[in-house]
Amino acid sequence: IFTSEALSLSTEMALDKEASTHISRVLRMNTGQQIELFNGDGFSYFAQIQAIERNQVSVRVVEAIEVNNESPLNIHLFQGISRGDKMELTLQKGVELGVKQFTPLITERCGVKLDAKRWQKKLQHWQKVIESACEQCGRNSIPSLYPAVKLQDALSQLNNTSFFMHPDSKHSFKTIIADAQSELQLWVGPEGGFSDEEVEWVESHGCKPVQLGPRILRTETAALAAVSVMNSLWGD
Ligand code: SAM
Repeated sequence: IFTSEALSLSTEMALDKEASTHISRVLRMNTGQQIELFNGDGFSYFAQIQAIERNQVSVRVVEAIEVNNESPLNIHLFQGISRGDKMELTLQKGVELGVKQFTPLITERCGVKLDAKRWQKKLQHWQKVIESACEQCGRNSIPSLYPAVKLQDALSQLNNTSFFMHPDSKHSFKTIIADAQSELQLWVGPEGGFSDEEVEWVESHGCKPVQLGPRILRTETAALAAVSVMNSLWGD
């Protein structure tokens, strides 16, 4: 169970409503039983249920174990924002595959126009998707989610291990030798792809175009396939 609270041995805390309901009503756990908590600090905290009162569960941390199941690769996914649940799928599966940083990219064809308040809500929702994916796959370090940024404004972050997913490229990952220790950036277009102008910008900043085979993949497939290939070539 994810919590944003600081934890250590002997910490006593009341779980939030959602976690309490899950434990008491869905899992039907009782006092004395243990649950596992994490807050992204790299430890698993085993906590004993002290009390369940009107669906409010209180626990006490009885054991802390350091867990490192992080990928050796430092993959930063710059993802053209896709619609509906596609972006969520990319974030969820990206977490499972070990992505460490996510930057949602606002591009010409991503078609999202939100005011500041709705952006904040969207980011909060995506953050929750990331935390739930960590909970499901047992990741104890929470990947970073940065605010959505316009493609032009993100170009300054490009480095010499930035790969830009482009179906027309002649290069595949097989032909690339990368320093696996550096930040490996993956730039993926939204459903409608990058515009010609955006392709020019990215290429003129030295970002390497890479193709993932002769078929056009959906944006979420492209991102996840690319992360898997990188893991297989350079990770563990
Ligand atoms: N008609 C669009 C185009 O030609 O760019 C298709 C966009 S595709 C659905 C969405 C994104 O997935 C692309 O911008 C690209 O980043 C990535 N992508 C899709 N298929 C790919 C492939 N075979 N190789 C590399 N990237 C691919």
